[in-house]
Amino acid sequence: MKSHNFNDTIAAISTPVGEGGIGIVRLSGKDALAIADKIFSSKDSKKPSVFATYTTHYGWVANGKKIIDEVILTVMRAPRSYTREDIVEINCHGGIVALRAVLDLALEKGCRLAEPGEFTRRAFLNGRIDLSQAEAVLDIIRAKTDSALKLGIEQLKGNLSKEINKIRKGLIELLAELEANIDFPEEGISRLNPADFKKKIMQIDAQFKAILESAKLGKVLREGIHVVICGKPNVGKSSLLNALLRQERSIVTSVAGTTRDTIEEIIDIKGIPVRIVDTAGILEPRDLIEKKAVQRSRNQMELADLVILIFDGSKKISKDDEALVRKIKGKNAIAIINKIDLKQKIEKDKVLKAFGHTIEISAKKNRNINLLEEAIADLVYKGRIWAPESVAVSNLRHIASLRQAQKLIAEAANSLDNKLSFEYIAQDIKDALLCLDDILGRRLSEDLLDKIFSEFCIGK
Ligand code: GDP
Repeated sequence: MKSHNFNDTIAAISTPVGEGGIGIVRLSGKDALAIADKIFSSKDSKKPSVFATYTTHYGWVANGKKIIDEVILTVMRAPRSYTREDIVEINCHGGIVALRAVLDLALEKGCRLAEPGEFTRRAFLNGRIDLSQAEAVLDIIRAKTDSALKLGIEQLKGNLSKEINKIRKGLIELLAELEANIDFPEEGISRLNPADFKKKIMQIDAQFKAILESAKLGKVLREGIHVVICGKPNVGKSSLLNALLRQERSIVTSVAGTTRDTIEEIIDIKGIPVRIVDTAGILEPRDLIEKKAVQRSRNQMELADLVILIFDGSKKISKDDEALVRKIKGKNAIAIINKIDLKQKIEKDKVLKAFGHTIEISAKKNRNINLLEEAIADLVYKGRIWAPESVAVSNLRHIASLRQAQKLIAEAANSLDNKLSFEYIAQDIKDALLCLDDILGRRLSEDLLDKIFSEFCIGK
């Protein structure tokens, strides 16, 4: 955002475009109230600049005598507002023409159209929230499940920042101790006891490990897991997908090979966004289209975090089943025996031998689908119970910075073991601190900010 200028007063439509009961035009900046004065009129002729903060007022937006919309206007005065600047929010009728007309008038009277994410960027630059909290705003807007929402809220509340600041404080203490020994070498014997110092470094290393451990779950809750359903034709892949979706989205038929391509759906299983792909299930492609479909399902399989392999319980295990078992070897897999409502002919012991477990279901009759859902959730949570009030890092940028910081701390420990100079060790710790500063946005890089805030929509 090259033209970023704090003196501007910005305006944007802050609600989604489309028909709605209400839509909001938001103004923020030092002239927000003065500009609102020019466009708002009410029965008692009072103007927004005299309104008390956090009060709402009924009236009209008008260009001179021409009334544009009937509105409710809210004033939030600096510094107690979203951006820490004066904010005026105008609740208009939620049609695009009304909203555009109100926005255009605000622009004509002196506002500049806000860049994507600029309201949140101002909240960050004005010091109300740090960068990880600003990013949480986007996570909250994009949350697909309750857990992802809770994760975003915890981050917005500053719980992640608190955790990072704790580690930061520890690093600064280490640095101070090192620098005291660098600065006063003439005092003879080093006051720094390497064994004690090593212990402190390892304590910080443990803090990094704990927070990165939370990242595994955090990432899953935010981005979901990729599950591929596979099995030879007619075992009930589409039926299972439908049972999971509880809605008929893919064609379920008894003709082999009708599901010619992959179908992907995102479903919420116990708070985990699960991207489920129903593969073509074709083993011997008959034509070019099927060949491509097989290729695509193979790619899907490679991407999968989890493969669900389905067997038809009413049939004996075939060569094709065995080929699929071999194909998914080494992958995280759940074996399903489907069609338990029919007479069972499958050699269950073979499935158990290959997988150590199996879940018996009927996709058609909706039986035991909950057992599969529980198995998926168990695999993800792996006994880890995520308390919503605990932090879980979920943002890839944060995870990358934390990993880098931990690596530097491990190097510092190594250098200490190898009796390298304190200056050398101090440099690693300084670099680790910079990684943490990046997460919080303490070290300003316009490029990074542009990248982060450009993901926001205009009006946020
Ligand atoms: P896909 O080719 O693996 O996707 O299999 P489909 O889901 O299209 O199912 C093939 C056939 O098996 C359809 O006629 C389904 O109705 C039937 N089917 C699927 N699940 C079950 C089940 O649990 N019990 C019975 N009896 N039939 C099922």
